[in-house]
Amino acid sequence: MKKNVFLLILCLFVVLTACGKQQTSSNPHEKEEKASFYKKENQERYQAYQKQMPDLSFKDVILRVNIGLDQPYYTHTVESPYQNTNQLLVNKYYYLGEDYVPKNLVELDGTYSKGGIYLVKEAAQAFQKMVDQAKADGYSIRAISAYRSYQYQVHLYQRYVDQDGQEEADTYSARPGFSEHQTGLCVDVDNRVMDFNHFEETKSFQWMMENAARYGFILRYPKGKEAITGYQYEAWHYRYVGEEIANDIKEHGMTYDEYYMEFIDKE
Ligand SMILES: [Zn+2]
Repeated sequence: MKKNVFLLILCLFVVLTACGKQQTSSNPHEKEEKASFYKKENQERYQAYQKQMPDLSFKDVILRVNIGLDQPYYTHTVESPYQNTNQLLVNKYYYLGEDYVPKNLVELDGTYSKGGIYLVKEAAQAFQKMVDQAKADGYSIRAISAYRSYQYQVHLYQRYVDQDGQEEADTYSARPGFSEHQTGLCVDVDNRVMDFNHFEETKSFQWMMENAARYGFILRYPKGKEAITGYQYEAWHYRYVGEEIANDIKEHGMTYDEYYMEFIDKE
């Protein structure tokens, strides 16, 4: 008799444990669904994209779908919120209008640029401080391009399309309104000696990798992140986001697109 009771208890225990386990594993995405960046209206897109990209974590799926990467570039586009702030996101889904000209544009002093280069004041001040420190450490950095108007991008993009065709041009040049240069918050640099597209090979680049975040700048289009940023690796293109965000991004090895979706985008 005693043996039977024991067996009964054992069976109950096994059944209850199994039920418990099933309950906790019934929704493996529970944690992500509670996250602030999970958008219920995107649920079906998350599922479809996860099937396309089985190796991505569910969190990465959410962030990439929120960016818009499950849909072709330049489709389902949104006018960028956070205009005239350091949080402004511009990429192949987030654009600025034809009339958007950032407030507080200032011209960089000639000792920091090749001349006629404009940045938003806060970014300009941070840039000059950064270049001063680089110089003190023995490295040369100069701005060769920063703010570009919508109209300028119209001409630039058209020139690339005429030269290489639209498909190729889209891999390295932004369509008008979709260029981060229109924000006045980013800057292309060289070391005054080598052409900008060899910047990666310079010691100035190494210095930037170590120190740029301390001045609020991030490498905006890193190597290996092309599928997220939508751009080829650009060792010369830096974006001002402010010190706090720049340090976070550097520490976590994220792109600004992902950071924006995880921490800034609140709708
Ligand atoms: Zn650039």
